Amino acid sequence: IKELIMKKNYENSLREIIKEYKLKPKKKLGQNFLHDKNIISSIVNKANIEDEDIIEIGPGPGILTESILNNKARSLLAIEKDDSFEVNLQKIRSNYGDNFDYLISDVIDFDFKKLTKKNYKFVSNLPYNISVPFILKLIKIRNIIPWKEMILMVQKEVAERITANISTKNYGRLSIMVNLNNDVEKLLNVKPSSFIPRPKVDSTVIKISPKNKKININTEVFERIVKTCFSQRRKKVKNNLDQLNINTISLLELSNIDPDIRAENIDIEGFIRISRNYEELIKENYEDF
Ligand code: SAM
Repeated sequence: IKELIMKKNYENSLREIIKEYKLKPKKKLGQNFLHDKNIISSIVNKANIEDEDIIEIGPGPGILTESILNNKARSLLAIEKDDSFEVNLQKIRSNYGDNFDYLISDVIDFDFKKLTKKNYKFVSNLPYNISVPFILKLIKIRNIIPWKEMILMVQKEVAERITANISTKNYGRLSIMVNLNNDVEKLLNVKPSSFIPRPKVDSTVIKISPKNKKININTEVFERIVKTCFSQRRKKVKNNLDQLNINTISLLELSNIDPDIRAENIDIEGFIRISRNYEELIKENYEDF
């Protein structure tokens, strides 16, 4: 009963914030607000917030934000696109003082070079429409901002694509790009009833942490190879790679890949070999001219 009352209190407080600030959840900004106290505490516990520098994407009404601050984050920077949350964020800043700040900005366009600290942990109930571009952006810019970990709520289907095993229908570009230099773990599944308004889909909280050793590879070439290999999933890898106007058969032979298999049956090491050999072939061809 105590649990139920506490859960109800959280739901009320979110409803009160929505009412007080006359917030109308905007679908196009993925505004499904978390009210479930148990889920909020699980996210914050699993993120090990204490003494960490945290960035939260999309604080919205700020319930997760306050929970992060109550769990003794060293600092918290919130990045929110929708300025209708600004009054609420200002209130949080006046309550919590110097270790909280916020920016009104679109995180997809945000220039992370501006940030001075390193080793941030990202914690976010991400808006569905930007979850994939956000994750790919952060993976790309880790040399600019060497973040420590990301604890993210994403659509269940996105979590499944990121954690997919080779030779399954979800295995593809996203799984490969994320797993190249990171470990990914599913932490918990979240039902639509944990949000106001309820989304149509289930969600999953995932943890993405960089591997100790970064693979030495030209990531632009690697990305291009993976994209080309998956351009038509049902086609043989040889046929997809023919678009690159190189000797595909020798590229695949050098890389120890059967030209008749599909991209979904090639593991990350296989893509690494194709990508490195492709770079070599291109260099050799230039030298011939
Ligand atoms: N953190 C709140 C929670 O857990 O209830 C809100 C999460 S809601 C799923 C997503 C939040 O991200 C919204 O506040 C939305 O306005 C914000 N948002 C949407 N697109 C954004 C973007 N491109 N950059 C920054 N914030 C964005």
